[in-house]
Amino acid sequence: MLLPQKEAREKVCPLLRGPEGQVQCCMGDGCMMWRYRQKDSRGEDAQGYCGLAGKPMGAL
Ligand code: SF4
Repeated sequence: MLLPQKEAREKVCPLLRGPEGQVQCCMGDGCMMWRYRQKDSRGEDAQGYCGLAGKPMGAL
């Protein structure tokens, strides 16, 4: 799913868990798996995706 980083931060991460097992939201580019759609476009409004599931349609 392509989306702005600031919106990704509101989505639940399938991997992250808190100390008591509670779900956590995406860390955006603070995570090694975050991928920006365009390498020269970064920041909270820049589109990207979680690389765990591979490239989404529309990400060239
Ligand atoms: S980019 Fe990282 S923090 Fe965000 S959903 Fe993917 S694995 Fe979780």
